Amino acid sequence: MLKAHDGAEVDIVDRLPTPFGLVRSGVAPDHPETKIVVNQFSRVAANERCSFFGNVNLGTTVSLSDLCEMYDAVVLAYGAESDRYLGVPGEVYLVGRKGPVQAACTAKELREILGIKDLHVRIQKADLATSPADEEELKESRIQQRVYELFSKAATSNQHHDIVGQRELHFMFFRKPDRFLPSESGNTVSGVHLEKTCLKGVVPNMKGRVLSLDQAEHAIVEQGLYVAGWLKRGPTGIIATNLYRAEETVSCKHPGRFQEWVTDARFRLTQTRKTGSSKFQNIRMSDLCHSVDGDTKERMEGELRNKPRKKITAWEELLLAVDG
Ligand SMILES: Cc1cc2nc3c(=O)[nH]c(=O)nc-3n(C[C@H](O)[C@H](O)[C@H](O)COP(=O)(O)OP(=O)(O)OC[C@H]3O[C@@H](n4cnc5c(N)ncnc54)[C@H](O)[C@@H]3O)c2cc1C
Repeated sequence: MLKAHDGAEVDIVDRLPTPFGLVRSGVAPDHPETKIVVNQFSRVAANERCSFFGNVNLGTTVSLSDLCEMYDAVVLAYGAESDRYLGVPGEVYLVGRKGPVQAACTAKELREILGIKDLHVRIQKADLATSPADEEELKESRIQQRVYELFSKAATSNQHHDIVGQRELHFMFFRKPDRFLPSESGNTVSGVHLEKTCLKGVVPNMKGRVLSLDQAEHAIVEQGLYVAGWLKRGPTGIIATNLYRAEETVSCKHPGRFQEWVTDARFRLTQTRKTGSSKFQNIRMSDLCHSVDGDTKERMEGELRNKPRKKITAWEELLLAVDG
C-alpha cells in the first residue's frame, strides 16, 4: 500500500502492546528463519507514513464504525486467535467442521483413503455446494482443487453398489460434535449428536473486499472495508500465503478511486492522538518506537539465558516495557 500509493498513510492498530501478531507469539523459536519476516515488517513500520498503535482493541477501545469514519480504507486482519472449544467434555470426536474446499489433507492422502479395497465412501452431495468465497479459494490453490475434485468424484461414483458387510466411510462436513448420547444403561456411549456449523472466524469477502447483505438479502460490497490474513480465509496457510493474499487485497482497490480517497483524507489515529480527540483521550496506546525498547529489553534478558529473547507475556509488564 505504501509502495503503490505515494500519498497513502497507514496506521496499524493492535490489541496487544507489541506488534507482529502470531509471528511473535505463535511461530516457534526454533524457526528463526521464519521469524526473520519481523525485519521486513519493521522496515515497513519504520516508514514515516506508517504508525503502530498497540493496546487498542477493536470492539472495545475503538469500534469498526469509528475506524470507518476516521479512515478512507480499513483492512481487518485480526487473525483467528481464540482457541476453538470442542464443547464435548471428557472425550474428543473428530469431524469435518469446515467444508470439502477447506479439507486439511493432500490429494495424495485422500486418494489413498478412497483407494482402500472394499471401502464404500459416502459424501452428501449438498455438502459439496460451493460459495463464491469457496470458488475464489479453489482458484488460488491447486491442491484444494484436486482434493475437491476427488471428493466430488467419490460422491457420485459407486452410489448403487451396496454390498452387505461392506465397510463404509462417511465424510460429514460442516458438522461438529454437540454431545454424546448415553446407552440405555447409562454406562456407555451409544452415539454422538452432531450440530451443523457454518464457516466461522472468516469475514465474507470477495478478493479481500468485505461483503454484506442489503435489506433485500442481496450481497453488496462494503465501501472502504477490507480483510487480510487468517480473517480473510480462515486459520490455514503460512506467513507467505498471507503476504500473497494481502497483496490481492491491496490490489483490489481501484487506483483512481484510491487516490481520490487519499486526497480527501479525513481523520487518522495519529492526528486524533495529536489533537487529543475526546474518544481516545484516555487510552494508553503503545507505539512502535516504544515497542522497540521492549524488544531490546527482551533480547537482553534472552542473552543472559542463552536464548534469542526472553518474551514478556504478562500484560502490565508488557505495557511497562513498551512505555519505556
Ligand atoms: C502455533 C503456531 C505456529 C506457527 N508457525 C508458523 C511457522 O513456523 N511458519 C509460518 O510461516 N507460519 C506459521 N504459523 C502461521 C502464521 O503465524 C500465520 O499464518 C500468521 O501469523 C497469520 O497472520 P494474521 O495477520 O492473519 O494473524 P495474526 O498473526 O494472528 O495477527 C492478528 C493480530 O490482530 C490482533 N488482534 C486480534 N484481535 C484484535 C482486536 N479485537 N483489536 C485489535 N487487534 C486485534 C492480534 O493481537 C494480532 O497481533 C504458525 C501459527 C501458529 C498458531
